[in-house]
Amino acid sequence: MTARLKGVLFDLDDTLIDWSGVELSWRELEARHLAKVLAFLNQKPLNSQVNLGRLVDLYSQRTREAWAQARKDLRAPNMPEILLTTLAEVGVAGADIYRKEILDAYDWSAVPGTVVFSDVPPMLKTLRDSGVKLGIVTNASQPMSLRDAELEAHGLIEYFSDCRLAAADAGFLKPHPRIFAEALSRMDTAPAETIFVGDNPVADIGGAQGAGMRAVLRLTGRADFDAAAGRTARDRASAAAYKRDLLDTQRSLASLDELPAILDAWYPGWQNYGE
Ligand SMILES: [Mg+2]
Repeated sequence: MTARLKGVLFDLDDTLIDWSGVELSWRELEARHLAKVLAFLNQKPLNSQVNLGRLVDLYSQRTREAWAQARKDLRAPNMPEILLTTLAEVGVAGADIYRKEILDAYDWSAVPGTVVFSDVPPMLKTLRDSGVKLGIVTNASQPMSLRDAELEAHGLIEYFSDCRLAAADAGFLKPHPRIFAEALSRMDTAPAETIFVGDNPVADIGGAQGAGMRAVLRLTGRADFDAAAGRTARDRASAAAYKRDLLDTQRSLASLDELPAILDAWYPGWQNYGE
């Protein structure tokens, strides 16, 4: 018997949220939030007079190092850990006890210039109305508790009560099987009952297929197969093969409007399960 469609998991960045209009650099963006952290810490008896530029420089460096290591072993970088380590390095002793308050002060929110792709809300409604569970699996180094602020600002959070999973919380980056297993556990669906939609051919598509799911590559215009391919020749060859394969078949789409036709082929009658 053909499996029923019970869940759709989405990547977040450049799959649901369009980052192409962001003009701030990563460093400028972090400087805004780290300035708020310093303002908070300056109210505390930590005897710390930290220069913002030095903090941003070192935080940037430690973040780059964490991602370089993560690409080797797929253990997720953890932004709060990186921040607390960096604060200790610049001379703020004992900031750990304010961990929660520091993350509140960091005040992460929707990044200026980001928008939800226009084809996203209608498709989420269609899937939800058909009784399909929806989830997000992102390679974010920020915990989902921070990224939830973006989902709220963008009006997306209401769709994703079953699963919102950041790599920082799962401990592993896509395409590691552990993060997909955690997502399926939260969805309470089997791999054959669940599909994955994402814009990264290696992390999203290769990872989901490796976990036993069907996967659809979302071509959002920013999909960069070479950048997604990683550093090793094997990664690049793998991405090139995915690109050839995916672009030749119905497993890629330029608009989510094309998703129902793919689901019709994989899960006949999926829109009428509730009737
Ligand atoms: Mg993405």
